[in-house]
Amino acid sequence: MAVTDTECLKTKVLIVGGGPSGSCCGIALQKMGIDCCIIDKAVFPRTKLCAGLFTGKSQVCLRNLLGGDAYRHVMEESVMSREARFVLWNGMEKLVDCVPYDNITLVDRRAFDACLIEYYKSIGGLLYEGVGVKDIDFRNRCAVLADGRCVQYEYLVAADGANSRVEHLLANEPATGFARKKTSSLCLEVNVERCDLDFEGVNIFFDIVPDSYAWVFSKGEKVCIGLVKLPGREFDVNAAMLDFMRRLGVKNLDKYPLRGAMLPFGNVMSNPAYDSILFVGDAGGFVEPLTGEGIYYAMQSGWYAAESIAAVSDKSAKDVCKEYRKRSSCLVRLIRNGGQYQHWLEIRCLRNFFFKHAPRNARFISHFYSTRIDKVCFDGFMKIVYKYKVGL
Ligand SMILES: Cc1cc2nc3c(=O)[nH]c(=O)nc-3n(C[C@H](O)[C@H](O)[C@H](O)COP(=O)(O)OP(=O)(O)OC[C@H]3O[C@@H](n4cnc5c(N)ncnc54)[C@H](O)[C@@H]3O)c2cc1C
Repeated sequence: MAVTDTECLKTKVLIVGGGPSGSCCGIALQKMGIDCCIIDKAVFPRTKLCAGLFTGKSQVCLRNLLGGDAYRHVMEESVMSREARFVLWNGMEKLVDCVPYDNITLVDRRAFDACLIEYYKSIGGLLYEGVGVKDIDFRNRCAVLADGRCVQYEYLVAADGANSRVEHLLANEPATGFARKKTSSLCLEVNVERCDLDFEGVNIFFDIVPDSYAWVFSKGEKVCIGLVKLPGREFDVNAAMLDFMRRLGVKNLDKYPLRGAMLPFGNVMSNPAYDSILFVGDAGGFVEPLTGEGIYYAMQSGWYAAESIAAVSDKSAKDVCKEYRKRSSCLVRLIRNGGQYQHWLEIRCLRNFFFKHAPRNARFISHFYSTRIDKVCFDGFMKIVYKYKVGL
């Protein structure tokens, strides 16, 4: 495709997608005085299927990016509950009920994403919403929107989620050698009213679906129920979800249509930068496979992309890509580290070992959650055990 329209908008950085990865990239660029534009096919506030678990490391990242007042505003507008209990289940049998060092924060993604995009606009950021990117002329660095308008860019940040259009278009370009991420997992989720299911805490259920987990999160007036189907596992995912809801005792099942979304669970791109294009958030596969955590990785990868552009944009696009690969490598490491635990849980004897010993080790599970999941922690399992034993 070649773009001929000369009257197109010009921007240094075009960000496709205004979820947490795109908005955090835009906020960081605006704060550094770099010209950018976010394009989102949806109009904010928009619905986003997400359980909304907002870990300690996500909170630190967001506070550092926004600053105290704006951070407080986002949290006031979007936090639905702060849960004190973290509960693991084997099927419908409770394995361990523990109390992490800090309460677990759960946000409403509709409000959260809208607040971030509002903040981006309030500091001068340009947003085109309600119109998606349809095509991209990668050679001439020009994106064509669904309404026919064009946007010319120097750098393109692909922040358009798990089913990234940018990724799809780039993979269809001949002879790029660009490696797509692997197939994503399917998640189903419903938010039921508390009168139809009363459930406390943040609950993870093993052995409800093959090799993965289901969840029940208490979120104020709602209770969020969901499950993950890993690629290649053959089972009827809708039937599994309905069965799970029945076993939980959800009333008025007909009131709650099942909704699904893809999650790039353990699919981080081996190379999230290509030519002048940086992949962030779900588009780059930045999701932790043990927990499905993606908000932290989305915000942080978006911020790293902005910093990489700011750090070396006076050099070549190649240098920006190199810089982004370097900065985002710590996220890749964290994700691969999480992948190891997910892999262990897929091995039946290790899972049985875990099921057998978890009930007597509630304090360790709480320590594991508070260090490995809530914080940025590169420690291997033995080091986490060692630090727990010596009380570090
Ligand atoms: C069921 C479920 C539960 C989850 N629970 C959690 C959780 O509890 N905690 C957690 O940390 N993570 C969770 N995640 C993961 C988390 O939601 C994602 O990792 C996170 O939303 C990624 O943010 P993002 O900005 O990369 O993408 P998104 O939030 O998906 O945003 C992408 C944006 O791109 C826009 N877009 C798409 N295509 C185009 C186009 N062609 N042109 C323009 N715009 C486009 C979309 O409209 C959207 O606004 C969950 C995910 C799912 C599916």
